[in-house]
Amino acid sequence: MAHTITLVPGDGIGPEVADATRLVVEATGIDVVWEVHHAGAEVAEKRGTTLPPEVIESIRRNKVALKGPIGTPIGKGFKSVNVTLRQTLDLYANVRPIKSLPALEPRFEGTDIVIVRENTEGLYAGLELMIMPGIAQSIKLITEPACTRICEYAFAYAERMGRHRVTVIHKANIMKLSDGLLLECFRRVAQRHPRIEPFEMIVDACAMQMVRDANKLDVIVTENLYGDILSDLGAGLVGGLGIVPGSNIGEQAAVFEAVHGTAPDIVGKGLANPTALIQSAVMMLHHMNEPRAADRVARAIVENFRSGGPRTPDLGGSASTMEFAGALARRVAVSPA
Ligand code: ATP
Repeated sequence: MAHTITLVPGDGIGPEVADATRLVVEATGIDVVWEVHHAGAEVAEKRGTTLPPEVIESIRRNKVALKGPIGTPIGKGFKSVNVTLRQTLDLYANVRPIKSLPALEPRFEGTDIVIVRENTEGLYAGLELMIMPGIAQSIKLITEPACTRICEYAFAYAERMGRHRVTVIHKANIMKLSDGLLLECFRRVAQRHPRIEPFEMIVDACAMQMVRDANKLDVIVTENLYGDILSDLGAGLVGGLGIVPGSNIGEQAAVFEAVHGTAPDIVGKGLANPTALIQSAVMMLHHMNEPRAADRVARAIVENFRSGGPRTPDLGGSASTMEFAGALARRVAVSPA
């Protein structure tokens, strides 16, 4: 049966890494139909909206999307497309595996952390006001249902993936009510998952722990902003933004996207590393119940780096985006099904 996937190439390097990812996914031979829709800063100039309704409709219909990075024109009154998509489709769990690849000289060999970030609330709720000229306020919205749901997701994920520990990252010593509520929900949910060890850590201590010895961490669950910042820190530990994938999961739909942004400094030069979006596609293939295709792509990435295959310039190589993707696609095509 053919899988129909909504593809949103996005802005900046988005179309380049999306083309590369298509090539590698198609090399698996699975039957895929890409329903391409555009959103972002370029669309806004033509349509007056960064997120045309057909994008949401397509994702709702297909239930799965692959998305490049999307820029939000600043100072023109547009709300972030990424935030709007996550809120509209209630993609509440942002899952970002931070895993070392071979031969990339990561800071720590064998780093393997998964960040589960609450995706719909916190300071991203968009509740901001100018109280008076010179005084602005951003409201950090935290609710019990959202905290419980994200903690449940993290523990269930840990159980499903054979993980051992879930650490909640918070700053409840200062934000006693909002982060305190997250902590309370975490403790309650942990009792329902006795096979997984619960652990609590303050966000600043977590940042230091990640830099000093990331291998002590397993699954992390946290609120929106801490998850955003710690993901980039994690990316830095394992080789940079060019390789770290992500997924936004809800009950009705899932959107797979890299952690990186539009990278305006390298657009159109063939310098973009598509590994992050290709690894997001691996997560997508698992989600679509195509584990063999997912494993073939994942293996091709690992074998490429282990065997000294092509690399893009961010990783010290000289391959262009499509040369790198072509090499991966050839590996996938000849790998055992
Ligand atoms: P945005 O405003 O969309 O977040 P940004 O430039 O602030 O864009 P990123 O796009 O995340 O943030 O990029 C940060 C840095 O990492 C840039 O120097 C960029 O070139 C580099 N970078 C990000 N993604 C990649 C990639 N896939 N391949 C190579 N370099 C990348």
